[in-house]
Amino acid sequence: MNAHPVTAISGGAVVAFDGSEHRLIEPGVIAFAGDEIVYVGRDYPGTPASLIDACGMLVIPGQISAHAHVSAQEGSRLLIDGGRRDFFRSGFLNYVPTKGGDGAAFLQHQDARASLRFGMASLVRHGITTVLPFAPAGADHGHMMIEAAGEFGLRVYYSPLASGGRYHFDSQGRPQRAWDEGAGLRALCAAAEFISAHDGKHSGRFRGMVTIDEFYFSTPLIRRRARELAEQLGVGVSLHCSEQLSEFHETVRQTGHTPVALLAKEGFLGPRTVLAHCLYIAGHSATAYPYGDDLALIAQSQASVAHSPLAFSRRGVALESFQRYLDAGVNMALGTDTYPLDMFAEMRMGCIVAKIVEKNHESAKAMDLFNASNLGGARALGRPDLGRLARGAKADIVVIDFRSLAIGPVPDPIRALVHLATPDMVDTVIVDGQTLMRGKRLLMCNEAEVLAAARASSERVWASFAAYDWAERRIDEAFPPAIKPWQDPVE
Ligand SMILES: [Zn+2]
Repeated sequence: MNAHPVTAISGGAVVAFDGSEHRLIEPGVIAFAGDEIVYVGRDYPGTPASLIDACGMLVIPGQISAHAHVSAQEGSRLLIDGGRRDFFRSGFLNYVPTKGGDGAAFLQHQDARASLRFGMASLVRHGITTVLPFAPAGADHGHMMIEAAGEFGLRVYYSPLASGGRYHFDSQGRPQRAWDEGAGLRALCAAAEFISAHDGKHSGRFRGMVTIDEFYFSTPLIRRRARELAEQLGVGVSLHCSEQLSEFHETVRQTGHTPVALLAKEGFLGPRTVLAHCLYIAGHSATAYPYGDDLALIAQSQASVAHSPLAFSRRGVALESFQRYLDAGVNMALGTDTYPLDMFAEMRMGCIVAKIVEKNHESAKAMDLFNASNLGGARALGRPDLGRLARGAKADIVVIDFRSLAIGPVPDPIRALVHLATPDMVDTVIVDGQTLMRGKRLLMCNEAEVLAAARASSERVWASFAAYDWAERRIDEAFPPAIKPWQDPVE
C-alpha cells in the first residue's frame, strides 16, 4: 500500500494506458503518490492531498529519447545546407576527427559541464523524462553525467562510450581511421566498473547501459565483449549502426554481410539491443543492395531501432521507411539525436518523411509515432513501468497546454500533439513523482544562466576553429553563414 500523499491532475484530457494500448479519457484524472501512479480514470475516489488543474491541457506519459547527444551541439549546428560532399551526407565526420593523430579536437575549448547542463535543461523543457545519452567518458570518467542526472532529475541510461579507434584528419584534410581494439576493450572494462558502481543511483533513476560508439568502429571481439558485459550486468546495449553509407558498403565488401546481418550472425541482437539510426539496410535505395531481409532479422531478435528523423532529414537522408520497419514487426523508438532535443519535432518529421518515402498519406500515422515516443522507448529499455499512464507505472507525466492559437481547434488530441505542438506548450513535467517543471518554468535551475553558459562555451569553440581546422580556415570560411554580414557603403 502506497502511503505517500496523493496528487491528482484533473480537468484535462488524459492519455491513459489500458493494458494493451493508449486510450483517451476526456476529461480524466490521473493521481500519483510517491513515484507511482495510483489512479487513472474519470473520477478520483477520495480527496487528494494536492490538485493540479489541467483544464485545457493534454496529459501524456513522459517521453523517452532512446538516443540523444545531450549537449550544445557546436558541430552539428554548423552543418545545415553544408558540410563535405565526400562524406555522403554524414554530418559528424565534419567535426569529430582530430587534427592529426594526436592533435587538436574541435571541442577542445568547450565547457563540457555547461554544454551538458544545457542539454539536460532542454530535455526537461521539451517534456522528455528518460534519455539514453551517447557521450564519451570525459576527463572525469563519466561522473559529470551522474551529477547532471541528479541535478536535473531525469531518468538516464548511460555508461561512457567504448570505441575501437579514432578518426583524424591528415595534413591534406583526408579523414583517416586509426584502429585501437585494446582501447575499446579497456573502455568496456571501465564501463562495466562504472555500471557496477553507479547503476541505481538517484533513487533508481540513473541506470547503466553498455554503449559502443559505432558499429563501424567496433571489432567482432569488442561487440562480443559488450554483449557479454550487458548480459552479466543485466543491462541493455546500444550502438550507432548503419548510419554511414560507407559503413554499409565496406561491411558488405569485407564480410559478405550487411551490418544488421552481421550483428544477427554474431548473436549481438537481442531484446535489450538498441540500434541507433539503422538507416542503411538491405533494400535502402541508396545502397544498391536489395538482397536479404535485415528487417526480419531485427524483428526476430526483438531488438529496437532508435529512429531520429529530424537530424537526418536535414542531411537529406530518410529511413525507408518507418512504416516498413513497423510492418516488419520491429520495435520502433524515437531518439532526439543532436538538436533540438524536441520529441514533438521528431514525431512530426517521422510522420511526414515516411509519408513522402512511401508515397502514401496513410503511412506512419500520428498514433504510431506517438507510441514510439513512449511505449517503444520503454520496450527498448525493458521498462514496462515507463511510457504509459497506468496504475502501478512510474509517475513520469507531462502536461501540455493546448490553450494556444498555434494549436487551434482540436478534433483529435494526438494528431494535434504530433503535428502542431511545440516545446513552449509543455506546462508541467513530473519524473518519479518529482515535479521538475511547473507553469512552464524549470524548477531545478536558472534557465537564463544555463543558456548563457552554453552560449559562451559554444562561442569559444567556434572562435578557436582555425586552430583545429586542417587548413586553418576560420569557421565562416569552412561553414559559410546563411546570411552575409552587412557592409557599410563606401562614401
Ligand atoms: Zn547519435
